[in-house]
Amino acid sequence: MKDSNCGYCVGGEPLAKFGIQICDLKVSQLILFKEQSHPGRCIVAYKDHVSEIVNISEEERNAFFADVDHAARAIHAAFHPDKLNYGAYGDTGCHLHMHLVPKYKDGFEWGGTFEMNPGRVTLSDEEYAEMIEKIKACL
Ligand SMILES: [Zn+2]
Repeated sequence: MKDSNCGYCVGGEPLAKFGIQICDLKVSQLILFKEQSHPGRCIVAYKDHVSEIVNISEEERNAFFADVDHAARAIHAAFHPDKLNYGAYGDTGCHLHMHLVPKYKDGFEWGGTFEMNPGRVTLSDEEYAEMIEKIKACL
């Protein structure tokens, strides 16, 4: 169940447009979101190209949420946000994934809904690598 136009399925250039793979989790992959207005923002993407949470079995769903929890704990440990926001959209992408968006009091968009891609903050390759190491150390 892969889609050749989907960044989560094929990686490479389609993924590089918005993210960098950090590692595989049990039934998903953890991706650093390149737009870093919210320091530590990541995506947990399910292993298969399925659109909806209702398209997978109860066991797979539980494993997916365990992965989300695993990633969330690492983000809390690495970046100490005041709140982690979770978002699952994908109207056009149709690949089950969840955005994990750290929010900081007095920080960008605190108290509101996070924008899908604010297009404000991109980092250098070294800074991305540093961030990924920080997250990996907490997994
Ligand atoms: Zn896909």
